[in-house]
Amino acid sequence: MAEKLSAVKGMNDILPPDSARWEWFEQEVRGLMARFAYRNIRTPIVEPTALFVRGLGEVTDIVEKEMYSFEDRLNGEQLTLRPECTAGVVRAAVEHNLLYDGGKRLYYMGPMFRHERPQRGRYRQFHQIGAEALGFAGAEVDAEMILLADALWKVLGLNDVSLELNSLGQPEERRQHRAALIAYFERHADQLDEDAKRRLHSNPLRILDTKNPAMQALVNAAPRLIDHLGEASLAHFQQVRAILDVAGVAYTINPRLVRGMDYYNLTVFEFITTHLGSQGTICGGGRYDYLIEQIGGKPAPAVGWALGVERVLELLKEQGGARPQPVPDAYAIIPDAAALPRVMQVLQAIRAAGVSVQMHAGTGEGMGSMKSQFKKADASGARHALIFGADELARGEVTVKSLRDGAGAQRAEPLVAVADWAHRLKLHA
Ligand code: ATP
Ligand code: MG
Repeated sequence: MAEKLSAVKGMNDILPPDSARWEWFEQEVRGLMARFAYRNIRTPIVEPTALFVRGLGEVTDIVEKEMYSFEDRLNGEQLTLRPECTAGVVRAAVEHNLLYDGGKRLYYMGPMFRHERPQRGRYRQFHQIGAEALGFAGAEVDAEMILLADALWKVLGLNDVSLELNSLGQPEERRQHRAALIAYFERHADQLDEDAKRRLHSNPLRILDTKNPAMQALVNAAPRLIDHLGEASLAHFQQVRAILDVAGVAYTINPRLVRGMDYYNLTVFEFITTHLGSQGTICGGGRYDYLIEQIGGKPAPAVGWALGVERVLELLKEQGGARPQPVPDAYAIIPDAAALPRVMQVLQAIRAAGVSVQMHAGTGEGMGSMKSQFKKADASGARHALIFGADELARGEVTVKSLRDGAGAQRAEPLVAVADWAHRLKLHA
């Protein structure tokens, strides 16, 4: 036998029955996005490397050490597997002039790639669902974003998700804070780790995002950006809070919340759970009013978030939110291979009536005994067996036998006019 190949480390196959959860989750998200009037956008998985370097900022975990970048062998272009999707959405909006007639509310779902150390809740290929509202400046859209995520947790039946909120203010306010921050960290240079020393002058705000336990006390006592905010920034933050307060969405203000990308300003937020160990952030986002301009568009404000699908599904599993597994409505039992062409023609008509049917498949030598076929029918979870025996077919009929409630009950149905009776096979008919 040839040597076995395995998936790339940190990149997972999503197999049945788990994939059913994914499909259910994606379907709930689509429904919810439609109720908030967000429209789907799909951008390429590969983008020019420069998009992320420029968009996310050079001194970020992602750009410094997590990107899968490569040179196109054929034309030498510098390319990167997308580590996130906001930059791509903004690129697409600029490239296609999506904002020419006003703001756009968009959402996406798909795989992202980051070269990180694989562990629970942290993979190298993972999936995000994200919402972006481009071209809206008001605090009400920041709040709408948060309400959208909050509604999603409710739809999914997720408990124990808490919201942390902060304001990063505007660039000028950040500059003042930055000076205070550098002065503070310089006074405590002996307590800085290597990462922090390196970032002290390039990106000191990022130090606040450190995951190093030894630095927590230092970082906790650092000057707070929120104390450097001017009137307009404070009013924006107040408005977001007022909307959340009336909507009954609880939050705590975390002055240390800075997020991993450089592009944020004003409102930033994260939804966090204590149930997933150290990978507890399930969703993060905020306002990014300067990114569109930075990527070459006409200046326009924007706000968005992204959630980690694996982490949300893990949390759902943890909370016992098991979804019923999909089962076919019916299992087709076919004693004689000679009947296959006629049977498969009938199955097409049954499926066209909206009924799911799993067809018994033979070994290549024969269809197998009735006993073994019924065993497979039982294992499939189907509620009905459709028995296409020679006698039935000769009469122009199929026997429908109940395998679950009232097991054993059977009746004959005609092979013509399938639509008249097939719908009764459906679970919720
Ligand atoms: P973390 O601090 O956990 O590294 P992040 O700030 O890098 O997260 P974002 O870039 O904000 O994460 O991405 C949004 C969400 O995507 C995260 O909150 C998380 O749920 C999920 N996520 C990020 N990186 C990974 C990963 N490597 N594997 C699985 N999920 C991830
Ligand atoms: Mg990260």
